[in-house]
Amino acid sequence: MLLRKFAAAVFAVLAVGGVQAATAAPAAAAPRILYYDASQAQEFRSVVDQGAQIWNSRVANVRLMPVTAGRTPNIRVYADNGWPRAQTTSLGNGRWYMGRQAVNQGYHPPRIAAHEFGHLLGLPDRRTGLCADLMSGSSAPVSCTNPNPNTREAATVNANFATAAAVPAQAFAWSGSER
Ligand SMILES: [Zn+2]
Repeated sequence: MLLRKFAAAVFAVLAVGGVQAATAAPAAAAPRILYYDASQAQEFRSVVDQGAQIWNSRVANVRLMPVTAGRTPNIRVYADNGWPRAQTTSLGNGRWYMGRQAVNQGYHPPRIAAHEFGHLLGLPDRRTGLCADLMSGSSAPVSCTNPNPNTREAATVNANFATAAAVPAQAFAWSGSER
């Protein structure tokens, strides 16, 4: 009886270990939860949710969740007629704007939303001109509809949250000329 209990315990430990190995995340801890408030994102609320879901499907160490009542959001999202832009106060904290100036020029709204969340997750702009890069932002053609981080960008975000990387307060703007 005792032996059977012991065997069951060993099996349980192995099963948990197997699950952790399958996620391949360097940190075995639960993901850090970041709450975002899209209540002021006007017509872009659903695209903000889409941007959050894109990140949630590609990184393991952080999770973007809509803020619940009574909780202070980590991230506030707004909409206005300017360029999309982000202002971070630290890793995972700050605000970003869904700017109609870029939307009206034809930039893909889900790509903008995922890109601006990317800044809040500790990624800088990298104006490579490549559509495959999420953080190339407006340097990729207006026709680019890729809303997904590439593997390097996702790995950097996972690493940032595995180590709780120190990220200084910064401001980023979608248009290079607006920096
Ligand atoms: Zn940017």
